[in-house]
Amino acid sequence: MARSVPSGWNVSEGPTRGLVITLDGPAGSGKTTTAKAVAKRLGFRHLDSGALYRALTFALLQKGVPEEEWEGLGSEQLSELKIEVDADGDGVNIHFDGVLLTMELRSPEVTGSVSAVAGLPAVRAWLLGVQRSVGAHGNLVADGRDMGTVVFPDADVKFFLVAGLEERARRRLLQDTGREPTAGELQEEARRIEQRDQADRSRSHAPLRRPEGAVEVDTTGLSFEDQVALILRRVKDLTRLQGEV
Ligand code: C5P
Repeated sequence: MARSVPSGWNVSEGPTRGLVITLDGPAGSGKTTTAKAVAKRLGFRHLDSGALYRALTFALLQKGVPEEEWEGLGSEQLSELKIEVDADGDGVNIHFDGVLLTMELRSPEVTGSVSAVAGLPAVRAWLLGVQRSVGAHGNLVADGRDMGTVVFPDADVKFFLVAGLEERARRRLLQDTGREPTAGELQEEARRIEQRDQADRSRSHAPLRRPEGAVEVDTTGLSFEDQVALILRRVKDLTRLQGEV
């Protein structure tokens, strides 16, 4: 039966769940902001999986767990970090010690350590169940590095977003500071992004790569609105969704 979703779209429910759309790509490719806007447009839930890895990193840093001990962490110790994830209507809230995490997830300290935490097999295994339960009923737009390859391999539509390194560095800085960066800041941020991409691509568990069958979108020359419209159009072309874009 067709179910009405906000913004004039209609989706016919599949036999088991609603649609799952994944957006993967390197740092600063615009995945999270795009995924959020696409989800809002469709009335779907948005999962920013990077925020989960950032939250665990934040908790480890706050608790002062030395980096040498991260490798030995198991699911029991990760549960003791008191990270709670609840999927509310349109997104996912992450609490640490009862406090909602927002801006602290984007601090330079968290960003500097998150790839090391994300490379730990125990962390990935622990978060796999969390992510799948958020998406269990579908009607989800999930963004990250392994959404289409590992977490939701049966997703209905998969995207792989790419953009030039300098553009990605510029977007990240603009997002964090609200102003155009200097040439020096750009260079420094590009170096940091490259390092993180390298770590994400070369790890043995769930490395960043283009999922098979994913639609590749180069966002370098696209405005944000064009990017969102392009993704919505492709979703419409490739699924049973109907509506205005
Ligand atoms: O997307 P964002 O930059 O917030 O992701 C932070 C980090 O979390 C990435 O650099 C990556 O190391 C890790 N990550 C991951 N798998 C995901 C999402 C994020 O390994 N699905």
